[in-house]
Amino acid sequence: MRVVFLGPPGAGKGTQARDLAREWGVPQIATGDILRQAVAAGTRLGREARDYMDRGALVPDEVIVGLVAERLGEPDAAGGFILDGFPRTVAQAEALERLLEETGQALDAVVYFEVSEPELVRRLTGRRVCRECQAAYHTVSAPPRREGTCDRCGGALYQREDDGEATVRTRLEVYTRQTAPLLERYRRRDLLTTVKGEGAIDEIRAAVRRAAEARR
Ligand code: AMP
Repeated sequence: MRVVFLGPPGAGKGTQARDLAREWGVPQIATGDILRQAVAAGTRLGREARDYMDRGALVPDEVIVGLVAERLGEPDAAGGFILDGFPRTVAQAEALERLLEETGQALDAVVYFEVSEPELVRRLTGRRVCRECQAAYHTVSAPPRREGTCDRCGGALYQREDDGEATVRTRLEVYTRQTAPLLERYRRRDLLTTVKGEGAIDEIRAAVRRAAEARR
């Protein structure tokens, strides 16, 4: 299974990618998670990316493409992957096509998560994330059993720097301007399949599973 999960921030790509990656036995390649780990570890990549991320802007294409090329070259990605949060620009989509072509691979599907803007803002501004396992919660609609603590691994929950309301607005604008044009590109290539990203998490998962498996 070689799939891209496409959609605005807060659409639920990460939540679904985590579960389906396990189910399909492929890695979840989440560029945002990789960058946040690099920031936390204080590596050169982290220092390069931090400023863009805090502002809600995209990290430059060449940085991201290099990172993804390296990650796709690891042995666990040879049999498939879920790309979560990449590509986000036309240049990244072109680079991905080249990368896959070079290794004789092709995408099976691009799953687009459709969620209304007010719902995205509500989800992002109330989101809390586990520092250890990256599981996501919501202060109102999906609180953890014990405040501030991850149900799955006991890790501490925190609010992402870029989940404040002003930065959320910027991220949604960036999505509309730079990422949404990819929908048309993948529609033309007959790879796009749309899933309604609102409702119960397990029902959305079933819809994503159906959509992706139908195209394998
Ligand atoms: P995410 O966790 O996917 O919401 O990503 C958080 C932040 O990481 C984004 O707002 C960007 O600053 C950066 N980022 C993640 N993925 C990409 C990408 N494919 N291209 C550029 N920047 C990215």
